Amino acid sequence: MGKDNSANHKKRNVKHPLKQCHSGENRNPCLSLSYEKSRGNLDTGFRRYDKADVDKSVKAGSSAPAGFLDRDGTVIFDKNYLSSPDRVKVYTGAAESINKLRKAGFKIIIVTNQSGIARGMITEKELAAVNKRFISLLKKQGASIDGLYYCPHIDEDNCSCRKPKTGMVMRAAKEHNIDLSKSYTVGDHIRDYMLGSNMGGKGLFVLTGHGKGQQKKLKKEKIQPFAVCKTIKQAAEKILKDNGK
Ligand SMILES: [Mg+2]
Ligand SMILES: [Zn+2]
Repeated sequence: MGKDNSANHKKRNVKHPLKQCHSGENRNPCLSLSYEKSRGNLDTGFRRYDKADVDKSVKAGSSAPAGFLDRDGTVIFDKNYLSSPDRVKVYTGAAESINKLRKAGFKIIIVTNQSGIARGMITEKELAAVNKRFISLLKKQGASIDGLYYCPHIDEDNCSCRKPKTGMVMRAAKEHNIDLSKSYTVGDHIRDYMLGSNMGGKGLFVLTGHGKGQQKKLKKEKIQPFAVCKTIKQAAEKILKDNGK
């Protein structure tokens, strides 16, 4: 059962102490003690999911391209602050797409904004359980990922990792020997597309999840992603084609 009940929804309206701060530094000195307590020592760094569940079999060689995939609304259904592992549902064709990209030499890294943590909607423990389930469902279909990074913040935290900021991909590039200029992002939000362009790679936009709503914004703001795709499957095909595969 999900935790998105009314009690939890109320938490969204909790006054955010960081909104009163004006510091642009990485670690916000204004973080109030009670807030810090409620968020479990939340600093402004990105988080990396426990590597035990990701595939470490690929040895580091010369720098590889990566597919940076958004999680919610792109690889799995977006369930709005998903906190329960039993509600994880992988899109048809997602595992197959991941496999195809990996076989073609792409590292697959999930980069996901999880502001539900900062908003008090989900805990990091719940998120870890959801990620574990997500990775195991992919594995059941024979697909592995190389890494998973998440940002637990909201915009007001001024962190360096919330997409479209590049903190997570920069760190992944270092840890996985990735060439960002040859890499792609795939996601259902303008933030995902912008991340691709901010990192010097290409951003693909999918129409699953929030994609259709976001597409209107894209048109209004005359933003042209590298490609607009119906699903992650189409996006993977587009990436492979762009690489002559
Ligand atoms: Mg998304
Ligand atoms: Zn962040």
